[in-house]
Amino acid sequence: MSSIYRILCLSHDPAITVEAEYDRPETAAAAITAGVDGHARCDLLIGRYSYPLIEVGCPPTTGPQRIGQHRCYPHSAPEWVDVAWLRILAAVHQSGTERMRALARESRLGCWSWERLRRLRDELSIDLSELAGQSGEAP
Ligand SMILES: [Zn+2]
Ligand SMILES: [Zn+2]
Repeated sequence: MSSIYRILCLSHDPAITVEAEYDRPETAAAAITAGVDGHARCDLLIGRYSYPLIEVGCPPTTGPQRIGQHRCYPHSAPEWVDVAWLRILAAVHQSGTERMRALARESRLGCWSWERLRRLRDELSIDLSELAGQSGEAP
């Protein structure tokens, strides 16, 4: 099963994919470290596609290159997660109990804040119509 990797810009709402394609995750992460044209100060993630999107990676947040661009907790390797888990997490943020939402805010899940998931809604096929009454909630 071959995959390609693309960079997702979450400074747009909804998120957009940057045009370049990479055949290895390391190359995509290196491109983010080096700076992506037009997205120097953006919140960037890596998408692994076997069409459709199957995994999302949060690039390393340590190192001087992207100081100030982190939207999550410090990690020196990419944090990968299957999109199925992101959909479950989004459902928890949208309609989970208070206890479930407290678990979803756990710091190890810091890469996958509600704000990021919401911006990834098109890529993840998340239905925002279930969201009544929560739009102002902080991530
Ligand atoms: Zn951007
Ligand atoms: Zn992260």
